[in-house]
Amino acid sequence: MRNEELIKHLKEEGYLETGIIERAFREVPREYFVRKGDRRYAYSDEPLPIGYNQTISAPHMVAVMTELLEPKKTDIVLEVGGGSGYQAAILSKLVKKVYTIELQKELAEYARSNLRKTRCKNCEVIHGDGSGGHEKAAPYDKIIITCAVPEIPRELVQQLKEGGIIVAPVGNQNLQILVVGKKKGSRLEKREYFGCIFVPMRH
Ligand code: SAH
Repeated sequence: MRNEELIKHLKEEGYLETGIIERAFREVPREYFVRKGDRRYAYSDEPLPIGYNQTISAPHMVAVMTELLEPKKTDIVLEVGGGSGYQAAILSKLVKKVYTIELQKELAEYARSNLRKTRCKNCEVIHGDGSGGHEKAAPYDKIIITCAVPEIPRELVQQLKEGGIIVAPVGNQNLQILVVGKKKGSRLEKREYFGCIFVPMRH
């Protein structure tokens, strides 16, 4: 399958709805974010291993989370769980700046190198534990967590701007619910979407 077929599938299934997000998918070749031996699967709608027991999310999950974040050209975004860098690359085409934190040193380097190859210049990869966010560049317009959390960490809510949006898979190891929170006066107004499975956040 090629990128164009993948995009067609994501549109038909209703995962991709916004023109500018569709364009971002077109501009970022997923084959740069998977392992060499997996390139032929790069455009099938499934997660793929990236080493260290971690995976690059399935394209439909990246599409849905990106849509729910309502990206704007002026946004400063924080991602927790950089992995391959693919989600950050998609966002980088839609916002002003993406900070992505990755716990596994080798994956932080992998993401950095993938983002360099695909010329995503407005992405910064930080190696570290993102459970407490990244205070240095806060506050953020949007925050996306791409590893499973039992609940949305308080520090991340604190680092979100008033009116800002956070998207996260919330639940236990085996099953989570995709939650979208909008910050209203230091509280999060939450909406639950559907079940999903992400690797758990580690410390
Ligand atoms: N968004 C990624 C996929 C993320 S997989 C992509 O587009 O490829 C989840 C990632 O979260 C893994 O790479 C894992 O190492 C990382 N992770 C787990 N706990 C973390 C933590 N506390 N801080 C930062 N990253 C973490």
